[in-house]
Formats: sequence, C-alpha cells, structure tokens
Amino acid sequence: MSARRGYTVRCVCSFPGCKETSFYHYDTQRELCEGTAAAQQRAGKWLCVRHTSPAEVLAENNPTTSHVLVNVELEHGRFWRQEGHEQVGGSGFVFGNGYKAYAKDFPPGTRLTITAKLELPSQQGEPHE
Ligand SMILES: [Zn+2]
Repeated sequence: MSARRGYTVRCVCSFPGCKETSFYHYDTQRELCEGTAAAQQRAGKWLCVRHTSPAEVLAENNPTTSHVLVNVELEHGRFWRQEGHEQVGGSGFVFGNGYKAYAKDFPPGTRLTITAKLELPSQQGEPHE
C-alpha cells in the first residue's frame, strides 16, 4: 500500500483549443467537495494560468512583466499589498526567485516592483567575463 491517500483531480483547461492540464490533490473527500479547482473542473469551467492571467505569462510578444506591491501600515504591523488593491489582503513577507522582502523593514508607502525579463537566445549579447 504505497499509493498516496486522498484524491487527485486532473483539471483540463476549458478554453477552446487549449490542452493545458494541472493536477490538484485533496487529502479528504470534504476538501475535494469544497475545492475550487475540483468544482470548476466538474462544471467544465477550469482555466489554466494562460487563460486566467494571460498578461503574466511571458512570451515572445510579452517579454517583460512587472508587478508592484505597496507597503501599508495596519494596526498589527506593515504589509505588502498589490498596488491598486490596497484594501485587500497583504503579506508581511514576500518572496520569489531572487528576492525576499520583509514589510517591517521599510516605511509605509514604499513601492516594491517585481520585474521579469525574458531574453531568447537570439537576443542575448556576448557573455561578459
Ligand atoms: Zn488554457
């Protein structure tokens, strides 16, 4: 008995012609019933990241993306929030490939810009020494 317990749902993107899939694992039947992705798949409405966040998917015609977080002060500390959505949620610590930032290290109003830049082999210059 080495099979992983629980339930794995294979979601297939419902966008016409798209074949992207993703697997979601639920430990219990209750989680399976309440799981957003599982419900979307049952309804035939699950969408892959290409079709839920197309502006964030890097591509030849979308080689750079940028995301801005703003430092806000609340009664229980400082948090990073998505610019333009300063009333929603927040995190005291954010991280990704190549960066980490504690909100408490910076004054309220600080902007954190996270940029990704794609360079295809044909666009790269000579390597530097
Ligand atoms: Zn898709």
